[in-house]
Amino acid sequence: MTAPTFRFAPSPNGELHLGHAYSALLNARMAGEVGGRLLLRIEDIDGERCTPDFERSILADLAWLGLEWERPVRRQSEHFDDYAEALRRLIDAGLVYPAFMSRGEVRAWLTDDAPAGWPRDPDGVPLYPPRDRLMSMGEREARLSRGESHSWRLDVEAALARLARRPFWTETGTGPGGETGPIAADPAAWGDVVLARKDVPASYHLCVVVDDALQGVTNVVRGRDLFAATAVHRLLQELLGLPVPSYHHHDLILGEDGRKLSKSRGDTGLRALREKGYTPADIVRMTGP
Ligand code: GLU
Repeated sequence: MTAPTFRFAPSPNGELHLGHAYSALLNARMAGEVGGRLLLRIEDIDGERCTPDFERSILADLAWLGLEWERPVRRQSEHFDDYAEALRRLIDAGLVYPAFMSRGEVRAWLTDDAPAGWPRDPDGVPLYPPRDRLMSMGEREARLSRGESHSWRLDVEAALARLARRPFWTETGTGPGGETGPIAADPAAWGDVVLARKDVPASYHLCVVVDDALQGVTNVVRGRDLFAATAVHRLLQELLGLPVPSYHHHDLILGEDGRKLSKSRGDTGLRALREKGYTPADIVRMTGP
């Protein structure tokens, strides 16, 4: 039996705020309660937005909070080969297609050609047009061999058709509507999600499932804003034959205006609070996990 394994997985694209502190402390507390391990993963695939400075300040903030985690820390930007291999398997299985439409072309399609009531994903983004999924193999090959710019998208319908049954997960926290217990995943609500782009060769969804599996993560504890995305993660785990952790989506700490905290809002940043004289014990009390 391996010990239950938890992870805190921040992206170094800003300073940590109270919401991150809550998530990290909750992971540590839940791991402690079951004699489990706590890993830290730096999700820095987006080389434009993530910086070594933000990573340094994340590590400093977490150490200041008194958290301990295992070394070495996994940094996603050092593992693009792992994500490329997973993507290759999905391409070879015929479940991923090259998507050539530019943002402008997508916008034009949505304005001029989309059927009325064209669906949006849980984040409110219109689903990707069907054109590239329906493209003939010949045209696809020709455009690829001409080196046309493209991303790779999961053919969610084809993927679901490969499964014997709809994936589900065990939720030990709650979703936005109070959902808990066994949850039937609805990955189709996201449409054909991007798994790799030209500029960033692996997407959040792909990296998170590959890493959770490679790191032996058994308990995913993260904010409720990622509840709906879990449907995509479950589908990818089924397609790649990866083990399935349990999921615990926790409350989000909201600002005084009732909005989600953002990394750009300095007032609840851990560094700002520390400089104002708050102690780690104050942060624990303020986040109250
Ligand atoms: N890197 C993600 C974030 O900072 C968290 C990913 C996860 O916990 O699955 O929001």
